Amino acid sequence: MLQKIIFATNNAHKVREINEILRSLTPNSRGVVNLDGYEIVTMNTIGHTTDLPETHETILENAIEKAEYLFEHYKVDCFSEDTGLEIDALAGKPGVHTAHYSGSRDPQSNIDLVLKQMGNTVIRSARFRTIICLILKGEKHIFEGVCEGKIALKPSGTEGFGYDPIFQPQGYDRTFAEMDGTIKSQISHRALATQKLIGFLEDLIY
Ligand code: IMP
Repeated sequence: MLQKIIFATNNAHKVREINEILRSLTPNSRGVVNLDGYEIVTMNTIGHTTDLPETHETILENAIEKAEYLFEHYKVDCFSEDTGLEIDALAGKPGVHTAHYSGSRDPQSNIDLVLKQMGNTVIRSARFRTIICLILKGEKHIFEGVCEGKIALKPSGTEGFGYDPIFQPQGYDRTFAEMDGTIKSQISHRALATQKLIGFLEDLIY
């Protein structure tokens, strides 16, 4: 029987991206991605529809808090993820406050505030950092993915979500929002952290 692992999020963008990342994990070092034995499903499956608590000042603590909340309330295997955008010219902000940086979740307001605070500075380096916290059989496991890049001078593109219109990953002169989702699914912070999670699960299977 398949063992369900609950993905601790209500964010439809994240669910779509995780699914795309899983699909993009085609032949790896072992020849195939084999998630035999595990099925990743969302919180809806267990009837949890409200946001999970994120009360800490680091994304690591918030990721742990969300996974622990689900585990404590439902006693299920689960994983959570928390992501922050760290902009060097803003001393690492918005960081843990990425989701509500402007005081609202509205992506346009958040982008506007970042661009206003950065002005024309030539120091545009930034990174997305994702922490995944897996709780499997009551044991916690942490995986991290970092995507280096820079903040564009103005927004471009319509793909993706959040800050994608202003984030150009290293090695590309396009923002995430100008890229086909299949590319983001291979190089993003979330992709890198998820690849580590999947590698860990595969190692348990073999
Ligand atoms: P959280 O991980 O749910 O706390 O969300 C952090 C916030 O970071 C989201 O609301 C988005 O604004 C932003 N974010 C997370 N991942 C991405 C991404 O892949 N691209 C652009 N923005 C993102």
